[in-house]
Amino acid sequence: MTNNKSSVGVLGAGITGLCAAYKLSRNGVDVTVYEKRDMAGGSIRTVQTGDWLTEHGPNTLMVRTEKVWDLIDELDLNSKMMEANREARKRFIVRNGVPKPLPMSLWDFISTDLFSASAKFRLFKEPFIRGIEKDDESIAAFMKRRFGKEVVDYAINPFVAGIYAGDPEKLSIKHTFNKLFKLEQNYGSITKGMLKSDRKSSARKALISFEGGLNALTQKLSKKLGNSLKLNHSISQIQYSNNKWQLQFDDHDRAEHDLIISCLPAHALSYVMQEVLAAPFTEKLKDIPYAPMSIIHLGYKKDQVQHALDGFGLLVPEVEDFKILGTLFSSSLFPGRAPEDHALLTTFIGGSRYPELAHLEKDDLIEKVQHELDRLLGISGTPVFTDHTYWKNAIPQYEVDYDTFLDTMKMIESNFPSLFITGNIRGGVSVPDCITNGIETAEKAVSLLKG
Ligand SMILES: Cc1cc2nc3c(=O)[nH]c(=O)nc-3n(C[C@H](O)[C@H](O)[C@H](O)COP(=O)(O)OP(=O)(O)OC[C@H]3O[C@@H](n4cnc5c(N)ncnc54)[C@H](O)[C@@H]3O)c2cc1C
Repeated sequence: MTNNKSSVGVLGAGITGLCAAYKLSRNGVDVTVYEKRDMAGGSIRTVQTGDWLTEHGPNTLMVRTEKVWDLIDELDLNSKMMEANREARKRFIVRNGVPKPLPMSLWDFISTDLFSASAKFRLFKEPFIRGIEKDDESIAAFMKRRFGKEVVDYAINPFVAGIYAGDPEKLSIKHTFNKLFKLEQNYGSITKGMLKSDRKSSARKALISFEGGLNALTQKLSKKLGNSLKLNHSISQIQYSNNKWQLQFDDHDRAEHDLIISCLPAHALSYVMQEVLAAPFTEKLKDIPYAPMSIIHLGYKKDQVQHALDGFGLLVPEVEDFKILGTLFSSSLFPGRAPEDHALLTTFIGGSRYPELAHLEKDDLIEKVQHELDRLLGISGTPVFTDHTYWKNAIPQYEVDYDTFLDTMKMIESNFPSLFITGNIRGGVSVPDCITNGIETAEKAVSLLKG
Protein backbone atom coordinates (compact mmCIF):
# COMPACT_ATOMS: atom_id res chain seq x y z
CA MET A 1 0.00 0.00 0.00
CA THR A 2 2.75 2.42 0.93
CA ASN A 3 6.46 2.54 0.17
CA ASN A 4 9.35 4.92 0.49
CA LYS A 5 8.09 6.92 -2.51
CA SER A 6 4.76 7.47 -0.78
CA SER A 7 3.62 11.00 -0.15
CA VAL A 8 2.08 12.24 3.07
CA GLY A 9 -0.44 15.06 3.49
CA VAL A 10 -0.59 16.77 6.88
CA LEU A 11 -3.89 18.55 7.50
CA GLY A 12 -3.62 21.77 9.51
CA ALA A 13 -0.48 23.76 10.35
CA GLY A 14 -1.01 24.33 14.05
CA ILE A 15 1.91 23.30 16.25
CA THR A 16 0.96 19.60 15.95
CA GLY A 17 0.86 19.64 12.14
CA LEU A 18 4.06 21.66 11.89
CA CYS A 19 5.93 19.24 14.17
CA ALA A 20 4.57 16.16 12.40
CA ALA A 21 5.50 17.56 8.98
CA TYR A 22 8.94 18.70 10.16
CA LYS A 23 9.77 15.24 11.54
CA LEU A 24 8.54 13.54 8.36
CA SER A 25 10.65 15.80 6.16
CA ARG A 26 13.70 15.16 8.41
CA ASN A 27 13.13 11.47 7.70
CA GLY A 28 13.22 12.10 3.97
CA VAL A 29 9.47 11.64 3.50
CA ASP A 30 7.70 13.56 0.73
CA VAL A 31 5.33 15.64 2.87
CA THR A 32 3.00 18.58 2.28
CA VAL A 33 1.17 20.41 5.05
CA TYR A 34 -2.06 22.26 4.23
CA GLU A 35 -3.28 25.23 6.25
CA LYS A 36 -6.43 27.24 5.60
CA ARG A 37 -5.15 30.51 7.07
CA ASP A 38 -2.52 32.80 5.60
CA MET A 39 -0.11 31.90 8.38
CA ALA A 40 0.91 28.79 10.26
CA GLY A 41 0.73 28.30 14.04
CA GLY A 42 -2.98 27.65 14.66
CA SER A 43 -3.71 28.69 18.25
CA ILE A 44 -0.21 30.12 18.63
CA ARG A 45 -0.46 33.77 17.63
CA THR A 46 1.93 36.46 18.80
CA VAL A 47 1.20 40.06 17.85
CA GLN A 48 3.58 43.01 18.17
CA THR A 49 1.80 46.39 18.42
CA GLY A 50 4.39 49.11 18.93
CA ASP A 51 6.20 48.12 22.15
CA TRP A 52 3.41 45.79 23.29
CA LEU A 53 3.91 42.11 22.59
CA THR A 54 0.72 40.12 23.10
CA GLU A 55 0.00 36.41 22.88
CA HIS A 56 -3.49 35.82 21.48
CA GLY A 57 -3.34 32.10 22.27
CA PRO A 58 -0.94 30.27 24.58
CA ASN A 59 1.43 32.45 26.62
CA THR A 60 3.90 30.01 28.14
CA LEU A 61 5.14 26.46 27.63
CA MET A 62 5.79 24.21 30.62
CA VAL A 63 8.46 21.98 29.09
CA ARG A 64 9.39 18.76 30.86
CA THR A 65 10.01 16.20 28.13
CA GLU A 66 13.17 15.42 26.18
CA LYS A 67 11.34 15.46 22.85
CA VAL A 68 10.46 19.14 23.27
CA TRP A 69 13.93 20.14 24.50
CA ASP A 70 15.43 18.22 21.56
CA LEU A 71 13.19 20.07 19.11
CA ILE A 72 14.21 23.46 20.55
CA ASP A 73 17.84 22.37 20.19
CA GLU A 74 17.38 21.06 16.66
CA LEU A 75 15.68 24.29 15.58
CA ASP A 76 18.57 26.26 17.06
CA LEU A 77 16.17 28.23 19.24
CA ASN A 78 18.15 27.98 22.49
CA SER A 79 19.54 31.49 22.15
CA LYS A 80 16.02 32.91 21.69
CA MET A 81 14.48 30.88 24.51
CA MET A 82 13.54 32.74 27.68
CA GLU A 83 12.75 31.14 31.02
CA ALA A 84 10.00 32.88 32.96
CA ASN A 85 11.14 35.19 35.73
CA ARG A 86 11.70 33.21 38.98
CA GLU A 87 8.90 35.20 40.57
CA ALA A 88 6.57 33.34 38.19
CA ARG A 89 6.63 30.45 40.65
CA LYS A 90 4.35 32.58 42.81
CA ARG A 91 0.68 32.27 41.87
CA PHE A 92 -2.18 34.12 43.46
CA ILE A 93 -5.62 32.68 44.18
CA VAL A 94 -8.46 35.03 45.01
CA ARG A 95 -10.20 34.46 48.35
CA ASN A 96 -12.74 36.90 49.78
CA GLY A 97 -11.90 39.29 46.95
CA VAL A 98 -8.15 39.39 47.74
CA PRO A 99 -5.35 37.69 45.73
CA LYS A 100 -3.48 35.40 48.17
CA PRO A 101 -0.21 33.64 47.29
CA LEU A 102 -0.59 29.89 46.81
CA PRO A 103 1.61 28.26 49.49
CA MET A 104 4.84 26.81 48.11
CA SER A 105 6.32 25.28 51.27
CA LEU A 106 4.96 23.34 54.24
CA TRP A 107 5.38 26.39 56.47
CA ASP A 108 3.57 28.61 53.92
CA PHE A 109 0.80 26.04 53.84
CA ILE A 110 0.44 25.92 57.61
CA SER A 111 0.44 29.71 57.93
CA THR A 112 -1.65 30.67 54.86
CA ASP A 113 -5.17 31.99 55.26
CA LEU A 114 -6.03 30.80 51.73
CA PHE A 115 -7.35 27.59 53.33
CA SER A 116 -9.23 27.17 56.61
CA ALA A 117 -7.79 25.08 59.45
CA SER A 118 -10.29 22.30 58.73
CA ALA A 119 -9.31 22.24 55.02
CA LYS A 120 -5.64 21.92 56.01
CA PHE A 121 -6.46 19.12 58.43
CA ARG A 122 -8.52 17.37 55.73
CA LEU A 123 -5.58 17.60 53.32
CA PHE A 124 -3.26 15.89 55.81
CA LYS A 125 -5.80 13.06 56.10
CA GLU A 126 -5.42 12.18 52.39
CA PRO A 127 -3.07 9.20 52.94
CA PHE A 128 -5.67 7.62 55.22
CA ILE A 129 -8.61 7.93 52.79
CA ARG A 130 -9.10 4.56 51.16
CA GLY A 131 -8.57 4.46 47.38
CA ILE A 132 -11.41 3.35 45.14
CA GLU A 133 -10.97 1.49 41.87
CA LYS A 134 -12.86 3.41 39.21
CA ASP A 135 -12.65 3.48 35.42
CA ASP A 136 -12.88 7.26 35.50
CA GLU A 137 -14.69 10.11 37.26
CA SER A 138 -14.75 13.90 37.18
CA ILE A 139 -11.77 15.87 38.47
CA ALA A 140 -14.02 17.42 41.13
CA ALA A 141 -15.39 14.07 42.36
CA PHE A 142 -11.89 12.58 42.54
CA MET A 143 -10.33 15.58 44.28
CA LYS A 144 -13.24 15.94 46.73
CA ARG A 145 -12.79 12.31 47.76
CA ARG A 146 -9.05 12.75 48.19
CA PHE A 147 -8.69 16.31 49.52
CA GLY A 148 -12.10 17.66 50.52
CA LYS A 149 -14.41 20.31 49.09
CA GLU A 150 -12.54 23.44 50.11
CA VAL A 151 -9.37 22.39 48.28
CA VAL A 152 -11.51 21.73 45.21
CA ASP A 153 -13.14 25.17 45.49
CA TYR A 154 -9.97 27.16 46.13
CA ALA A 155 -7.23 25.21 44.35
CA ILE A 156 -8.55 22.68 41.84
CA ASN A 157 -11.42 24.73 40.40
CA PRO A 158 -9.29 27.81 39.55
CA PHE A 159 -6.39 25.72 38.19
CA VAL A 160 -8.67 23.71 35.92
CA ALA A 161 -10.14 26.95 34.59
CA GLY A 162 -6.59 28.27 34.10
CA ILE A 163 -5.32 25.23 32.20
CA TYR A 164 -8.38 23.90 30.35
CA ALA A 165 -10.84 26.81 30.58
CA GLY A 166 -12.85 23.85 31.84
CA ASP A 167 -15.31 22.71 34.48
CA PRO A 168 -13.82 20.24 37.01
CA GLU A 169 -17.30 18.77 37.54
CA LYS A 170 -17.26 17.60 33.90
CA LEU A 171 -13.62 16.95 32.98
CA SER A 172 -12.19 13.45 33.28
CA ILE A 173 -9.52 12.88 35.94
CA LYS A 174 -8.10 10.00 33.88
CA HIS A 175 -7.55 12.10 30.77
CA THR A 176 -6.44 15.37 32.39
CA PHE A 177 -4.48 14.50 35.55
CA ASN A 178 -3.61 10.93 34.63
CA LYS A 179 -0.58 10.78 36.95
CA LEU A 180 -2.72 11.56 40.03
CA PHE A 181 -5.38 9.11 38.85
CA LYS A 182 -2.73 6.38 38.54
CA LEU A 183 -1.18 7.18 41.93
CA GLU A 184 -4.50 6.41 43.58
CA GLN A 185 -4.98 3.29 41.44
CA ASN A 186 -1.48 1.99 42.21
CA TYR A 187 -0.84 3.16 45.78
CA GLY A 188 -4.32 3.83 47.20
CA SER A 189 -3.39 7.46 47.93
CA ILE A 190 -1.78 10.35 46.09
CA THR A 191 0.50 11.29 49.00
CA LYS A 192 1.65 7.70 49.55
CA GLY A 193 2.15 7.26 45.82
CA MET A 194 4.24 10.41 45.55
CA LEU A 195 6.44 9.30 48.43
CA LYS A 196 6.85 5.75 47.13
CA SER A 197 6.99 6.13 43.38
CA ASP A 198 10.15 7.07 41.55
CA ARG A 199 9.29 10.60 40.53
CA LYS A 200 12.77 11.43 39.32
CA SER A 201 12.76 12.43 35.69
CA SER A 202 15.96 13.08 33.84
CA ALA A 203 14.31 15.79 31.71
CA ARG A 204 14.75 19.41 32.68
CA LYS A 205 11.58 21.30 33.63
CA ALA A 206 11.06 24.98 32.82
CA LEU A 207 8.38 27.51 32.00
CA ILE A 208 9.46 29.18 28.77
CA SER A 209 8.72 31.42 25.84
CA PHE A 210 10.95 32.95 23.18
CA GLU A 211 12.24 36.37 22.28
CA GLY A 212 9.48 37.71 20.06
CA GLY A 213 6.95 35.33 21.67
CA LEU A 214 5.78 31.81 20.87
CA ASN A 215 5.53 32.65 17.16
CA ALA A 216 9.32 32.23 17.08
CA LEU A 217 8.76 28.47 17.32
CA THR A 218 6.10 28.20 14.62
CA GLN A 219 7.95 30.61 12.31
CA LYS A 220 11.10 28.53 12.58
CA LEU A 221 9.21 25.33 11.79
CA SER A 222 7.47 27.04 8.85
CA LYS A 223 10.82 28.19 7.50
CA LYS A 224 12.25 24.68 7.76
CA LEU A 225 9.25 23.32 5.83
CA GLY A 226 9.68 25.85 3.01
CA ASN A 227 7.53 25.02 -0.01
CA SER A 228 6.09 21.94 1.70
CA LEU A 229 3.89 24.30 3.70
CA LYS A 230 0.85 25.38 1.70
CA LEU A 231 -0.93 28.33 3.29
CA ASN A 232 -4.38 29.51 2.15
CA HIS A 233 -5.28 25.89 1.42
CA SER A 234 -8.61 25.28 3.12
CA ILE A 235 -9.57 21.62 2.77
CA SER A 236 -13.25 21.36 1.92
CA GLN A 237 -13.64 17.63 1.28
CA ILE A 238 -11.64 14.41 1.44
CA GLN A 239 -12.21 11.24 -0.54
CA TYR A 240 -10.55 7.86 -0.44
CA SER A 241 -10.27 5.56 -3.44
CA ASN A 242 -7.71 3.15 -4.90
CA ASN A 243 -5.69 3.40 -1.68
CA LYS A 244 -5.20 7.13 -2.21
CA TRP A 245 -6.49 10.16 -0.33
CA GLN A 246 -7.85 12.95 -2.50
CA LEU A 247 -7.99 16.36 -0.88
CA GLN A 248 -10.20 19.03 -2.36
CA PHE A 249 -9.69 22.67 -1.44
CA ASP A 250 -12.13 25.57 -1.27
CA ASP A 251 -10.73 26.99 -4.52
CA HIS A 252 -11.41 23.61 -6.25
CA ASP A 253 -7.71 22.79 -6.41
CA ARG A 254 -6.89 19.14 -5.56
CA ALA A 255 -4.04 17.05 -4.13
CA GLU A 256 -3.47 13.33 -3.70
CA HIS A 257 -1.57 11.45 -0.99
CA ASP A 258 -0.91 7.87 0.10
CA LEU A 259 -1.16 8.68 3.78
CA ILE A 260 -2.71 11.58 5.67
CA ILE A 261 -2.25 12.89 9.21
CA SER A 262 -5.10 14.98 10.54
CA CYS A 263 -4.07 17.74 12.94
CA LEU A 264 -7.40 19.52 12.52
CA PRO A 265 -9.84 20.53 15.25
CA ALA A 266 -12.54 17.84 15.74
CA HIS A 267 -15.35 19.80 14.05
CA ALA A 268 -13.16 20.52 10.99
CA LEU A 269 -12.12 16.86 10.71
CA SER A 270 -15.75 15.77 11.01
CA TYR A 271 -16.75 18.18 8.22
CA VAL A 272 -14.05 17.31 5.69
CA MET A 273 -14.47 13.54 6.20
CA GLN A 274 -18.21 13.42 5.47
CA GLU A 275 -17.75 11.50 2.23
CA VAL A 276 -15.34 8.98 3.76
CA LEU A 277 -16.83 8.21 7.16
CA ALA A 278 -20.27 6.94 8.08
CA ALA A 279 -22.51 9.50 9.80
CA PRO A 280 -22.15 8.05 13.34
CA PHE A 281 -18.39 8.69 13.16
CA THR A 282 -18.60 12.25 11.85
CA GLU A 283 -21.41 13.03 14.33
CA LYS A 284 -19.34 11.69 17.21
CA LEU A 285 -16.28 13.74 16.23
CA LYS A 286 -18.44 16.85 16.01
CA ASP A 287 -19.63 16.23 19.56
CA ILE A 288 -16.23 16.73 21.20
CA PRO A 289 -17.02 19.80 23.31
CA TYR A 290 -14.88 22.94 23.11
CA ALA A 291 -14.79 25.86 25.54
CA PRO A 292 -15.03 29.36 24.05
CA MET A 293 -12.82 32.13 25.38
CA SER A 294 -12.08 35.82 25.09
CA ILE A 295 -8.70 37.25 25.97
CA ILE A 296 -8.37 40.85 27.01
CA HIS A 297 -4.95 42.47 27.13
CA LEU A 298 -4.81 45.69 29.12
CA GLY A 299 -1.72 47.89 29.39
CA TYR A 300 -1.17 50.37 32.22
CA LYS A 301 1.53 52.70 33.41
CA LYS A 302 3.11 50.88 36.36
CA ASP A 303 2.17 53.67 38.76
CA GLN A 304 -1.52 53.06 37.97
CA VAL A 305 -1.25 49.58 39.55
CA GLN A 306 -0.96 49.20 43.33
CA HIS A 307 -0.26 45.44 43.27
CA ALA A 308 3.43 44.53 42.87
CA LEU A 309 2.50 42.03 40.09
CA ASP A 310 5.21 39.80 41.58
CA GLY A 311 4.14 36.46 40.21
CA PHE A 312 2.68 34.45 37.34
CA GLY A 313 -0.77 35.90 37.77
CA LEU A 314 -3.99 35.36 39.64
CA LEU A 315 -6.70 32.72 39.35
CA VAL A 316 -10.30 33.24 40.39
CA PRO A 317 -12.28 30.38 41.99
CA GLU A 318 -15.86 30.04 40.77
CA VAL A 319 -17.17 30.54 44.32
CA GLU A 320 -15.78 34.09 44.35
CA ASP A 321 -17.85 37.02 43.15
CA PHE A 322 -15.99 37.69 39.87
CA LYS A 323 -16.55 36.85 36.21
CA ILE A 324 -12.96 36.66 34.97
CA LEU A 325 -11.22 33.26 35.06
CA GLY A 326 -7.79 34.68 35.75
CA THR A 327 -5.14 37.19 34.75
CA LEU A 328 -1.51 36.70 33.77
CA PHE A 329 1.01 39.33 34.85
CA SER A 330 2.49 39.06 31.36
CA SER A 331 5.10 41.81 31.61
CA SER A 332 6.37 40.30 34.90
CA LEU A 333 6.89 36.92 33.23
CA PHE A 334 9.13 37.87 30.33
CA PRO A 335 10.95 41.04 29.25
CA GLY A 336 9.88 42.88 26.10
CA ARG A 337 6.12 42.58 26.63
CA ALA A 338 5.36 46.22 27.46
CA PRO A 339 7.02 49.62 27.03
CA GLU A 340 9.37 50.80 29.79
CA ASP A 341 7.51 51.56 33.06
CA HIS A 342 4.34 49.90 31.82
CA ALA A 343 2.61 46.65 32.77
CA LEU A 344 0.74 44.22 30.54
CA LEU A 345 -2.10 42.16 32.04
CA THR A 346 -3.70 39.29 30.10
CA THR A 347 -7.17 38.29 31.29
CA PHE A 348 -9.19 35.20 30.32
CA ILE A 349 -12.96 35.32 30.33
CA GLY A 350 -15.58 32.73 29.32
CA GLY A 351 -14.50 29.09 29.25
CA SER A 352 -16.90 26.37 30.41
CA ARG A 353 -17.65 28.45 33.50
CA TYR A 354 -19.20 31.46 31.76
CA PRO A 355 -19.32 30.53 28.03
CA GLU A 356 -21.82 33.30 27.26
CA LEU A 357 -19.32 35.97 28.38
CA ALA A 358 -16.69 34.84 25.87
CA HIS A 359 -18.96 36.03 23.03
CA LEU A 360 -19.42 39.62 24.30
CA GLU A 361 -18.20 42.62 22.30
CA LYS A 362 -14.75 44.07 22.98
CA ASP A 363 -15.99 47.22 24.75
CA ASP A 364 -18.28 45.28 27.12
CA LEU A 365 -15.50 42.86 27.94
CA ILE A 366 -12.97 45.61 28.58
CA GLU A 367 -15.38 47.34 30.93
CA LYS A 368 -16.00 44.12 32.90
CA VAL A 369 -12.34 43.17 33.08
CA GLN A 370 -11.26 46.68 34.02
CA HIS A 371 -13.83 46.84 36.80
CA GLU A 372 -12.72 43.49 38.28
CA LEU A 373 -8.99 44.21 37.96
CA ASP A 374 -9.50 47.57 39.66
CA ARG A 375 -10.94 45.65 42.64
CA LEU A 376 -8.33 42.90 42.62
CA LEU A 377 -5.13 44.77 41.85
CA GLY A 378 -5.91 48.31 42.97
CA ILE A 379 -5.73 49.88 39.52
CA SER A 380 -6.60 53.51 38.98
CA GLY A 381 -7.53 55.22 35.73
CA THR A 382 -8.03 53.73 32.30
CA PRO A 383 -5.69 51.42 30.38
CA VAL A 384 -3.29 52.97 27.88
CA PHE A 385 -3.42 49.84 25.69
CA THR A 386 -6.28 47.42 24.97
CA ASP A 387 -6.61 44.35 22.81
CA HIS A 388 -9.24 41.62 22.39
CA THR A 389 -9.07 38.11 20.93
CA TYR A 390 -12.09 35.83 20.61
CA TRP A 391 -11.88 32.04 20.36
CA LYS A 392 -15.15 30.35 19.47
CA ASN A 393 -13.57 26.93 20.04
CA ALA A 394 -10.56 27.57 22.24
CA ILE A 395 -9.75 24.27 23.93
CA PRO A 396 -11.26 20.77 23.51
CA GLN A 397 -12.69 19.41 26.74
CA TYR A 398 -11.73 15.88 27.75
CA GLU A 399 -14.89 15.13 29.69
CA VAL A 400 -15.76 11.96 31.62
CA ASP A 401 -17.10 10.25 28.47
CA TYR A 402 -13.90 11.08 26.56
CA ASP A 403 -13.07 7.34 26.22
CA THR A 404 -15.96 7.06 23.74
CA PHE A 405 -14.32 9.72 21.54
CA LEU A 406 -10.97 7.96 21.78
CA ASP A 407 -12.63 4.69 20.78
CA THR A 408 -14.18 6.42 17.77
CA MET A 409 -10.81 7.79 16.64
CA LYS A 410 -9.19 4.37 17.11
CA MET A 411 -11.99 2.70 15.15
CA ILE A 412 -11.62 5.18 12.27
CA GLU A 413 -7.86 4.54 12.18
CA SER A 414 -8.31 0.78 12.19
CA ASN A 415 -10.68 1.09 9.21
CA PHE A 416 -8.17 3.32 7.40
CA PRO A 417 -4.59 2.33 8.31
CA SER A 418 -3.18 5.15 6.16
CA LEU A 419 -5.02 7.79 8.23
CA PHE A 420 -3.66 9.11 11.52
CA ILE A 421 -5.66 11.38 13.81
CA THR A 422 -3.74 13.64 16.18
CA GLY A 423 -3.75 17.27 17.39
CA ASN A 424 -5.01 18.61 20.68
CA ILE A 425 -8.11 16.41 20.54
CA ARG A 426 -5.90 13.50 21.54
CA GLY A 427 -3.11 13.01 24.06
CA GLY A 428 -3.20 16.41 25.77
CA VAL A 429 -4.03 20.02 24.98
CA SER A 430 -0.84 21.79 26.05
CA VAL A 431 1.59 22.94 23.37
CA PRO A 432 4.32 20.56 24.68
CA ASP A 433 1.79 17.67 24.49
CA CYS A 434 0.93 18.69 20.91
CA ILE A 435 4.62 18.83 19.97
CA THR A 436 5.18 15.36 21.41
CA ASN A 437 2.06 13.96 19.73
CA GLY A 438 2.98 15.49 16.36
CA ILE A 439 6.47 14.00 16.53
CA GLU A 440 5.28 10.58 17.72
CA THR A 441 2.61 10.40 15.03
CA ALA A 442 5.23 11.22 12.40
CA GLU A 443 7.40 8.42 13.79
CA LYS A 444 4.49 5.97 13.48
CA ALA A 445 3.87 7.11 9.91
CA VAL A 446 7.56 6.63 9.04
CA SER A 447 7.44 3.08 10.45
CA LEU A 448 4.36 2.32 8.36
CA LEU A 449 5.97 3.75 5.22
CA LYS A 450 9.13 1.73 5.79
CA GLY A 451 6.96 -1.37 6.24
C1 LIG B 1 -6.51 31.00 24.27
C2 LIG B 1 -5.66 29.79 24.45
C3 LIG B 1 -4.69 29.78 25.46
C4 LIG B 1 -3.88 28.66 25.62
N1 LIG B 1 -2.87 28.69 26.55
C5 LIG B 1 -1.95 27.70 26.57
C6 LIG B 1 -0.74 27.84 27.32
O1 LIG B 1 -0.50 28.88 27.96
N2 LIG B 1 0.16 26.83 27.29
C7 LIG B 1 -0.05 25.69 26.55
O2 LIG B 1 0.81 24.80 26.55
N3 LIG B 1 -1.18 25.54 25.81
C8 LIG B 1 -2.11 26.52 25.79
N4 LIG B 1 -3.22 26.42 24.98
C9 LIG B 1 -3.47 25.16 24.24
C10 LIG B 1 -2.63 25.05 22.97
O3 LIG B 1 -2.28 26.32 22.48
C11 LIG B 1 -3.39 24.29 21.88
O4 LIG B 1 -3.98 23.12 22.39
C12 LIG B 1 -2.44 23.91 20.74
O5 LIG B 1 -1.74 25.03 20.26
C13 LIG B 1 -3.26 23.26 19.62
O6 LIG B 1 -2.43 22.95 18.54
P1 LIG B 1 -2.96 22.04 17.35
O7 LIG B 1 -1.93 22.08 16.28
O8 LIG B 1 -3.34 20.69 17.85
O9 LIG B 1 -4.32 22.71 16.86
P2 LIG B 1 -4.57 24.14 16.26
O10 LIG B 1 -3.61 25.12 16.79
O11 LIG B 1 -6.03 24.39 16.48
O12 LIG B 1 -4.28 23.96 14.71
C14 LIG B 1 -5.21 23.43 13.80
C15 LIG B 1 -4.95 24.08 12.45
O13 LIG B 1 -5.84 23.52 11.49
C16 LIG B 1 -6.22 24.57 10.61
N5 LIG B 1 -7.45 24.18 9.92
C17 LIG B 1 -8.71 24.07 10.43
N6 LIG B 1 -9.58 23.68 9.47
C18 LIG B 1 -8.86 23.53 8.32
C19 LIG B 1 -9.19 23.14 7.00
N7 LIG B 1 -10.44 22.83 6.64
N8 LIG B 1 -8.20 23.09 6.08
C20 LIG B 1 -6.91 23.39 6.41
N9 LIG B 1 -6.55 23.78 7.67
C21 LIG B 1 -7.51 23.84 8.61
C22 LIG B 1 -6.41 25.75 11.56
O14 LIG B 1 -6.42 26.98 10.86
C23 LIG B 1 -5.22 25.59 12.48
O15 LIG B 1 -4.09 26.28 12.00
C24 LIG B 1 -4.05 27.52 24.78
C25 LIG B 1 -5.03 27.54 23.78
C26 LIG B 1 -5.81 28.67 23.59
C27 LIG B 1 -6.81 28.70 22.47
